[in-house]
Amino acid sequence: MISVAPARKDYYELLGVSKGATPEEIRKAYRKLVKEWHPDAYKGEDKKAAEAKFKEIQEAYEVLSDQEKRAMFDRFGYVGDQSSYSRGSGRTPGAEGGHFDDLFGDFQDVFDVFFGGRSGGGSRTQGPRATRGEDIHASVVVELKDVILGKKVILEYDRYSACGSCNGNGSENGTSFRTCPNCNGTGYIKEEHRSFFGIFSNTRTCNTCNGNGRIIDKRCPTCGGVGTEKERHQVSVNIPAGVENNATLRISGHGNSGQNGGPAGDLYVSVRVEMPSEYRRNGNDIYLSKEVDYVEAALGTTVEIELPEGGTETLKIPAGTSPNTVFRMKNLGIPAISSNRRGDLLVTVRVSISKPSSREKKLLQQIAKLKNSKVVE
Ligand SMILES: [Zn+2]
Ligand SMILES: [Zn+2]
Repeated sequence: MISVAPARKDYYELLGVSKGATPEEIRKAYRKLVKEWHPDAYKGEDKKAAEAKFKEIQEAYEVLSDQEKRAMFDRFGYVGDQSSYSRGSGRTPGAEGGHFDDLFGDFQDVFDVFFGGRSGGGSRTQGPRATRGEDIHASVVVELKDVILGKKVILEYDRYSACGSCNGNGSENGTSFRTCPNCNGTGYIKEEHRSFFGIFSNTRTCNTCNGNGRIIDKRCPTCGGVGTEKERHQVSVNIPAGVENNATLRISGHGNSGQNGGPAGDLYVSVRVEMPSEYRRNGNDIYLSKEVDYVEAALGTTVEIELPEGGTETLKIPAGTSPNTVFRMKNLGIPAISSNRRGDLLVTVRVSISKPSSREKKLLQQIAKLKNSKVVE
């Protein structure tokens, strides 16, 4: 029943990107091509061919920049307009021209009937579709002391924000557009179909403005009509005390800007904790070992334990401490992320024995005699 339109073009090839290209790579390729092929910018002879090429580039970008459409294209080699069952799917502002609806208009109608669509509805809010901005991923490396004390890091990165020259609407100076006369700015056309089964009231995307509700007369030269531009962005991120190695923090709203008033994406920061080799972490406890001399272990001593956050704490080693005894120093570990309670610092005492000097040997032989120890003469 549903006829499949064959793929006419390879959108990846058109944009000169690989099948695995990231959204960033696709956007970059698109911008570059827009600058080259935009009818106002094109320097060559054949203006008609340039215009056709420009349209193809837009078409390719519209599909590959939209996750759902791209997935559909990857799978089936074509893209139908899915707006009747996936509302709020992305759309490129300023990509005017009705190529999709021209090619797949029948498709749309079939979907509308099948899914109940918006038949008789009119529930859609008016105006261009809002698209959420993409998420951005970053990573930071922190030290153990940062895990104990918490740390504020300043991250600086490039992100796309609404183009300042056009206020994000993609038209020159933000003003070179008009309300679409075909749909009066709603982006949708309501139609009635008479069929054997009765009358179907049906709403479809306006193919004059491609659902944007406006027609751009002149594209913004800064962003090529995309509505976003690259900016250097800074954000201060609080790494909470107690953070686990490889934890991911979500910084809401610091991803790329949305389009047509859609919300910005988020920034995801993955945190790697670099542990000094002498410390080991288990949950919120920290383990380390401390070496003492056998005489110190036998007679008792005090040792200074270096704390990972800086400073030292005195640990008393009582007389007669056996090798590998573990001492628990309370509340000197890592704070729990959800409370102020700290874990403990666990110190394993290693006992070192060195070859005695001749004087030490004499003294030890006296001890051996005292204890009736069986030693070599
Ligand atoms: Zn712009
Ligand atoms: Zn329209």
